[in-house]
Amino acid sequence: MPSPRGVKSHPCLVINAGSSSVKCSVFDLASDTLLFKDEIERVDSIEGAIGLIAERLYQAGHTDIKAIGHRVAHGGEYFRDAALIDDALVKIIEEYTPLAPLHNPPILAGIAMTRQHWPDVPQVAVFDTAFHQTMPPCAATYAVPEAWREMGLRRYGFHGTSHKYVMLRVAQELNTTPVQLRIISCHLGNGASVCAIERGVSVDTSMGMTALEGLVMGTRSGDVDPGIFAYLKRALGFSVEQIEDVLYKKSGLAALSGLGNDMRDIEKQAAEGNAKAQLAIEVYAYRARKYIGAYAAAMGGCDVLAFTGGIGENSATMRSRICDGLEFMGLDFDEEKNRQIKLEEFEVPQLQRPGSRIRVMVTQTREQWMIAQETGRICKREGIDDG
Ligand code: ADP
Repeated sequence: MPSPRGVKSHPCLVINAGSSSVKCSVFDLASDTLLFKDEIERVDSIEGAIGLIAERLYQAGHTDIKAIGHRVAHGGEYFRDAALIDDALVKIIEEYTPLAPLHNPPILAGIAMTRQHWPDVPQVAVFDTAFHQTMPPCAATYAVPEAWREMGLRRYGFHGTSHKYVMLRVAQELNTTPVQLRIISCHLGNGASVCAIERGVSVDTSMGMTALEGLVMGTRSGDVDPGIFAYLKRALGFSVEQIEDVLYKKSGLAALSGLGNDMRDIEKQAAEGNAKAQLAIEVYAYRARKYIGAYAAAMGGCDVLAFTGGIGENSATMRSRICDGLEFMGLDFDEEKNRQIKLEEFEVPQLQRPGSRIRVMVTQTREQWMIAQETGRICKREGIDDG
């Protein structure tokens, strides 16, 4: 869609390079519209995928990209905000790559390739970890030797872009500002995390140094006793690589249900009496509820409990299970509303009864859009915005 008459369009390309696919979108920052969206699945190489994206953009007539935003998984302690990409910044991201060995390499390859394709376009790195850099030391610190902590062992948290979006959208919907609110944001997708957002800043989140900690996820275990590692190695002869592979790719909902990681299948089977599927759902909901209680305690209360991500947005049963038992916090959940909502784009329906001390809100996350917004903000801040 073109910009309103007289307003110069400002197309911003967003690249989200994962290990199995590269997602891209183009937003016109001037008119706040989505111009283009694509996903290259099962990429043979990131370089090839970026080349294909460049070609498709060219064919669609998007030859005037003004800025590019990249989702970067791990920005370590260094990045508290999104940042303009240059050689020095790429070097710093590379230094943090051992902390995100699965996620950062395809992103770095994507950045290198986009810089080749669009050498004159400003590019911005938007970090999943940046939003959580406000966590106080008591939440970010692991109780391990100082020498280990000096090597970077601490909690960083992820899904920051999504949690930040939820915070802004919820505040907007309530006609207020984030500083007025204590929000517990539940991003429940294939990856999943909960975030405690106190008066506009993240004060705790369930993912830690890696994206393994916290909630039960599609194929990731979430919290386990670290003692498991030694047992698996000593008693069963597993290698570190094997353990890591299982905890990332063969655990979570998939392992508990034996049905794969799709919550729709698991819910269907559970309803038909499949005991494994029922257990998977119970463990999932219990872990989420436990974190919500913990974060209410961390913030001394909660004003909004927000759900997003494929499961948070779509599964009324899961929302209901998670909220079941939170009455002690002042939550009066409206089961009827919960069952009835049909989430439309950008809407933020509320699921509490009148008089409930806590609001329950649901919204579709918009990570790509948020990355475009952050990219525009950083370009403006750096004085390179010609939009
Ligand atoms: P990703 O983290 O890969 O972006 P999504 O946010 O799309 O993933 O979430 C994927 C999860 O959402 C899957 O477990 C899928 O089963 C679940 N999901 C999607 N729609 C529904 C639905 N209608 N009911 C229950 N679960 C759903």
